[in-house]
Amino acid sequence: MDKFKNKMMRFMQGRYGSDQLARLTMYISFACLIVTIFWHNTFIYFLALVLLIYTYFRMLSRNISRRYNENQIYLKCRYKVIAKFNGFKARMRDRKTHRVFKCPGCSQKIRVPRGKGRISIKCPKCRIEFIKRT
Ligand SMILES: [Zn+2]
Repeated sequence: MDKFKNKMMRFMQGRYGSDQLARLTMYISFACLIVTIFWHNTFIYFLALVLLIYTYFRMLSRNISRRYNENQIYLKCRYKVIAKFNGFKARMRDRKTHRVFKCPGCSQKIRVPRGKGRISIKCPKCRIEFIKRT
């Protein structure tokens, strides 16, 4: 067993290995394979295969800086999606107590409490004032 481990370690030396993007493509690939158990769809099966090959290609790649950059792009996208989702969740949560207006000057979103009638809103970013019903 130790011999195998050594061999494995030598094989992986200088290769990129796993990262968050590899985990994602692996998960999607497995999910697709599970779907094909219940539903024989050639496209999904093909997609699973391609993703699996892609995952291994990246893990065994020796072009570490390139693989690293790919992962960084993925992490940035993931962060944006999570931030958007959290913003949406927050808006949903207080849509009864607050309203969100867009500043006519700079498009900055401004959150104000509801039920205050017509009020003048001052944009915190560009200092433009505008009147809205809350
Ligand atoms: Zn503004």
